[in-house]
Amino acid sequence: MNCYTNWVTHVVFPVHEWLKKHTTVAVRKDMEKTQWLAASDLKKRQLENLKSFLKEVEQRVPYYRNLFKTLNFDPNNLNSLEDLSHLPLTDKSIIRQHSDELKAFDAIGLSRFNTGGSSGEPLVFYIGKNRVSHDVAAKWRATRWWGVDIGDPEIVVWGSPIELGKQDRIKLIRDKLLRTHLLPAFEMSEAKLDEFVQHIQALKPKMLFGYPSALAHIARHAQKHNKKLNDLGIKVAFVTSERLYDHQREMIETTFGCPVANGYGGRDAGFIAHQCPAGGMHITAEDIIVEIIDKQGQVLPVGEEGEIVITHLATADFPFIRYRTGDIAKLSNDLCVCGRGLPLLKDIQGRTTDFVVAKDGTVLHGLALIYVLRDLPGIGGFKIIQTSLDETRIQIARDQGYDPACEEAIQQTFKKRLGSDVAIHIDYVDHIEKEKSGKFRYVVSHVELKE
Ligand SMILES: [Zn+2]
Repeated sequence: MNCYTNWVTHVVFPVHEWLKKHTTVAVRKDMEKTQWLAASDLKKRQLENLKSFLKEVEQRVPYYRNLFKTLNFDPNNLNSLEDLSHLPLTDKSIIRQHSDELKAFDAIGLSRFNTGGSSGEPLVFYIGKNRVSHDVAAKWRATRWWGVDIGDPEIVVWGSPIELGKQDRIKLIRDKLLRTHLLPAFEMSEAKLDEFVQHIQALKPKMLFGYPSALAHIARHAQKHNKKLNDLGIKVAFVTSERLYDHQREMIETTFGCPVANGYGGRDAGFIAHQCPAGGMHITAEDIIVEIIDKQGQVLPVGEEGEIVITHLATADFPFIRYRTGDIAKLSNDLCVCGRGLPLLKDIQGRTTDFVVAKDGTVLHGLALIYVLRDLPGIGGFKIIQTSLDETRIQIARDQGYDPACEEAIQQTFKKRLGSDVAIHIDYVDHIEKEKSGKFRYVVSHVELKE
């Protein structure tokens, strides 16, 4: 660890977290001990934590106080983790309908978030300080598995809104101090890709972080132009938010000369699982209970494939209890050779997001379009289909509160991104159909990327 990183890890970041009333440092230190516990001890700990979490939720969250009463559910009677299945599943539509009653009555300093989610179903939700501390700590622990620490230079390839608010500007100062450099992943014109490559060469980051599709796209560009990036000393590329394909892993690993570590989670569901250097996809079991369910909502035994459902134990301010992610995976009883007792998640089939191509040839990450829709009120679900360079269709399943006047704004923003003479059609549908594979894809492009 060099001097600057040492200073950031031990002074700057702890002070930053203390000022924000986060307990991240203590949580991370504790997690670095508990990761080595035997699986059975971790389970015991989960049960204790689950019990006190549900008791707290019963006290503080009106929605669950009423629900527990109706179901005659008493957290004190919880005997095993399996008893969690006595509570109903939650999904985005339930959270949308009850978002006020889901806030703890005494919660302070909640932050509002929104996400497109894996099914193109927008969701607005709230995150308290405890939750932030736990999610940041879990990510911090995972970066340390790979010999990278907070304060080491990092390149983040991520979608970001074009206009910056006050919060974003504060974040920029923090990012600068922590040596995090953001490359906006929305627009990937040839000129932008050249810039990205130069930026990475100049910064010599210890770590890359981003969507696998976006990192692979930059890698492909570098290879095409014979730009050497495998001698910069990059230790690891963290990828998340999308399904990671083998060809992407290979492209990223050879180009940047570092291993790829896959992460699974989301703003809504939390930091669910992350790969260790031995290859195991370890669940953040101290905070997150993962269940796998079948199509009827019944819990499946370990080893069987089904939908991932999570309960996040640090979310008493705005609970996520038995929350359906829409993604598919299976649990495993295997032990990872790294020796950590944290259980493993296998064969995760997350969402995929296509790139779209603007009329002038600029390649855009699908999120550039998703961001337009997910902020609008009254949209229950959506899907964007780019049929050709000249036409894009948007399917929208309306909820109450949808304002037809939004059409004009959608048209304008889509044209701004894709080209002023591109035809944008809005089709209203009852619900968004899944793909044949059974998975949702919320951005589908039939335009081929020129390699
Ligand atoms: Zn491991």
